[in-house]
Amino acid sequence: MSHTGNARGVEGADACDAYVFMGGTFDPIHHGHLRTALELQQWLGVDQVWLVPSRTPPHRDAPGTTSEQRLEMVRLAVADEPALGVDDREVRSDRPSYSLLTLRSLRQELGAERPLCMVLGMDAYLGLPSWHGWEELIGLCHIIVVRRPGYIYEPQATMGRFTRAHETTSLAAVLGMPCGRVLMHELTPLSISATQIRQLVARGLSPRYLCPDPVWHYIQQHRLYGLNEGS
Ligand code: ATP
Repeated sequence: MSHTGNARGVEGADACDAYVFMGGTFDPIHHGHLRTALELQQWLGVDQVWLVPSRTPPHRDAPGTTSEQRLEMVRLAVADEPALGVDDREVRSDRPSYSLLTLRSLRQELGAERPLCMVLGMDAYLGLPSWHGWEELIGLCHIIVVRRPGYIYEPQATMGRFTRAHETTSLAAVLGMPCGRVLMHELTPLSISATQIRQLVARGLSPRYLCPDPVWHYIQQHRLYGLNEGS
């Protein structure tokens, strides 16, 4: 977690020491996740964006893969990209993968002042009220919301109020304080989902070019997602 700083995409801004992370099931990790993380790393001017695979995803059915397999695919995906890192704290923990717990542990390590940013796709952001202790999250981090093809910003009343209370369009405001703001950001839209990849593999079709080749090779090697079942 070293941050020596580099050029940021904002005129005249100093090197940025924010800790920026994107959590997810990554079942499997794909180019939608990776491109999002890389573009944010460049835009924010941080040394790295961290990918945090979950151990037991609280919001969805248990995945057919193990957390170690999903973690390994994330490691393979970023092995040759120094701008992206893997933070395995959720997989190593024996507690449920609640973002609240992850944020508390990060905040303890980073101290009270360092900006901490959690990246969420629009789908995840709009579903926030179903998360454990969700109203406490914004007191621990900023939320950077990235638009995702197929998901438009149409909030229920609760999320509409939440956004109005916390939204800013100023990156400088976000990076100048430790937590408390929501920033929506437009990136290269890639209409890729892990569901789509699992479905292709289960039907005997290649997901090549939707995810990195080492991830696809790992899926083949370990016969994940019903690959070649019955053959
Ligand atoms: P699934 O299809 O299994 O639900 P997923 O592709 O949505 O999986 P997750 O691991 O659930 O992947 O997502 C982790 C985070 O990445 C979430 O915040 C999600 O919104 C975001 N995300 C996933 N795919 C994209 C994409 N193509 N573009 C931008 N953000 C994405």
